[in-house]
Formats: sequence, C-alpha cells, structure tokens
Amino acid sequence: MQFTADHAEWGRVDITLDDLGCGRSWEEIHRVRGLELVCPECGGQVFARVSKLGTRHLYHRTRPPTCSLANESLEHHLLKLELVTRARAAGYRAELEVAAPTGEWRADVMVFGPDGDRLMALEAQLSSITAEEIAARTDLYERDEVSVCWFGIKPRPWVGTVPTLLVQPPEDPKEPWSVSAGLARLAENSMHWVPVGATLTDAVSWMLTGRITPYTPVRGSRRVVDQDGCYEWAEGWTRYWDDSWRMWWTAPSYVAADAERARKEAEDRLRRQEEGRQRELKKREKARKKEAKSRAYAEFWNRTGLDRQQWRYFRALAELFFSRGLVFGAPDDRFGGGRPVYERTGPEGEHWTLVGVACPDPYRLRAWAEEISLLVPRDEDLADLAERAWEPFQVYVFDPDTGVMYHERVLPTPVVP
Ligand SMILES: [Zn+2]
Repeated sequence: MQFTADHAEWGRVDITLDDLGCGRSWEEIHRVRGLELVCPECGGQVFARVSKLGTRHLYHRTRPPTCSLANESLEHHLLKLELVTRARAAGYRAELEVAAPTGEWRADVMVFGPDGDRLMALEAQLSSITAEEIAARTDLYERDEVSVCWFGIKPRPWVGTVPTLLVQPPEDPKEPWSVSAGLARLAENSMHWVPVGATLTDAVSWMLTGRITPYTPVRGSRRVVDQDGCYEWAEGWTRYWDDSWRMWWTAPSYVAADAERARKEAEDRLRRQEEGRQRELKKREKARKKEAKSRAYAEFWNRTGLDRQQWRYFRALAELFFSRGLVFGAPDDRFGGGRPVYERTGPEGEHWTLVGVACPDPYRLRAWAEEISLLVPRDEDLADLAERAWEPFQVYVFDPDTGVMYHERVLPTPVVP
C-alpha cells in the first residue's frame, strides 16, 4: 500500500491530492489499461485501487521483499496520510516520499515553506529503529537545514532522544488523531514539566508555525509530571521512559521561563556557596580567637604564678576593699596581658566601667597605666612596677596568702646622676 508513484511523462503522482499533484485525476489512473506507473522506491509497476475501507492507494502486484514502500504496514501508511493531510490543512505545500538529491534520506512527508524551500520533514516511525540510527538520520536532516519530527504510536527506546510526538488514531475515523506524549509545558512553579494534550491537527500546525519547538530542559527541571504528580507522560509510560525522554515540544515562552529558572538556580547556588564560605571563615575566626584566649590564660597563670584558689581570694579581697561587685575580664593584650576590672552600674548592671587592671606584665605597661588603677597580689610587684614607672601609678595590693590589702602610690625610681 502506498500513495505515490512515478509516471514517465507526468512525473510524481500523489494520489492524496485531488489533481494527483500533476494535473490529472483519479479516473485517469484507476483501472486504466496500458498505464505505466512505477514505484519511486523499487521501480516496479504499481496499480491504483480502493481498499475495502474506502482508502485509495497504489499497490505492487507482486510485492518485492526489498521495497520498503511495498512493505510498509497499513498503520504506517495511514499515519503518513494523516501527517500530509494535517500539513496541508495548516496551509502548507506538503509532499509524500520526498528524497534528498543525494538519496541520503527520503522523508515520509516533506513540508515546504512559502519560498518553496524544504521546511520540515514529518516522519512516521513505526518499525523498530535504534536510538543511534535515528540520531544519525536526524543529523542528516539538520545538515541539510530541514527540521524533523518523528511520529510514533508506542513507547520505544529512541522516543524522546530526537524531536518526537507519540500519537493515537481515533477509535471513530471521523474524530481527529490525538497527541499522547511529547508535548509539555512548564508548571506554574517552573519546577517541573506537565504533559499537554492536543489534536495532531493542532500539533502539526503549531510546529510548522513555530508555536512549539523541540527543547531539552536545562538540568533541574527534567521531570515530567501529570496533575497527580505521577512521573508519566501517558498511561503505560513508565519512569524509565521518562528518564530517557530528554527532549519534548513546548512553546518558546516556556523555553525562556526555564532558562530564567536555571539562571536563578545558578544564582542561588552561588549565593549558598558564598554563605558557606562566610560561615567557614567565621568558624575559623572563632577558633583562632579561642586559641588566642587560651594562650593568653596560659601566659597569665604562668607569669603571675597564681593558682585558681589564690585568684579567687585575690578577687574577693578587691571586692571587699572597694565594697562593690567587680567583674574580671580575660587576660587582654591591650592591658599588657593583665585582666581588666569592671564595675557594673545602672539598675540592671548594664553599664560596665573599667576601674582597673589586675596583674599586668610590668614590661608591657603603656599610657593606660597612668589613668587606671593597677591591682597586684604581692609586695614584690610594687618594686617591679616602680622600676618600670615613668609616671606615678595608683597600685592596690591584695595578697591572697595573707589577706593583706593596701593602696600605694608608686613613683618612678629617680635616675641616679
Ligand atoms: Zn516498490
């Protein structure tokens, strides 16, 4: 069963057209003796007849096993006929079985643009073919600047690896064919794709007018889900198929929206990376401070020779002497490794006033020592301070071993002339 033949004088005969594509009529080929119509594929003689269901077609009297046209299934022929009819209904010139000048491809249906240039090949692909073979055939069309859509009826491994639509013939021949898979739109949240149903009439018209385009989504929005969130194109279309189906037809506006989503996601990813980096920096800074603090404490205990018990007494004596609550800070480089002493004031004790420095290193005294009282645990500390003093210092001694406490004004040691 086929729809095209060649005639020595008329050229290509296409029985899907009223004038057979060559200014003739059905009556001029149907049951006409002595007419020589040959198959475009194998060159064998073909004859016109009408099937029991009323389909006009051409047939080989003896079917040559090597002729692909003669051996195409009825289903294939009906789909081809449907495709060429839909392209013509959309207002385009469309021809059946159009071969490349080089013979490298032969389109089931070739649709031509307004300038007569080849616009798009519509291929009914019902026999089995590998994904590699169909990719190679798609590449040939691409090389010749012809876009292509492969139409199938059942899920096959190649489906969705090239521009594809799965279609279904109607149960009632008067109804239109429908698209069962391969059309999708981006969901409103832009996170996944939703299958779209359509008639084959609409889908062919949309692809010829550019209202839909084959599109491989940017990574991250690959899943096609239906209204119930199922990973299915259509009934019987399993998760496996969904994963391998990586290209579908959609409107250019969804292509733009998907690109926008991918751009935002990339931005978010960068922002999260930056946030992670900042967190890491903060963590390191905190660890560094902790390390510095523990070094300062070690230095403090080591230099003062005080143990924890003596330190507690020292503090208690200071509070007793001044008759107020004091807070002793950590050893601080800004005060020569000594511990700042604060008095808390205000109703909630929220104001901290620096009132002294406990046990500073006499070798690391700076200008602050002139202003702030110095608190030390032993008499001997007075001599050390006097040796380093350049101005009078206010010094308080709180000896934790004896409980002795007193105030002393330490003057610079006079320089002996
Ligand atoms: Zn043939």
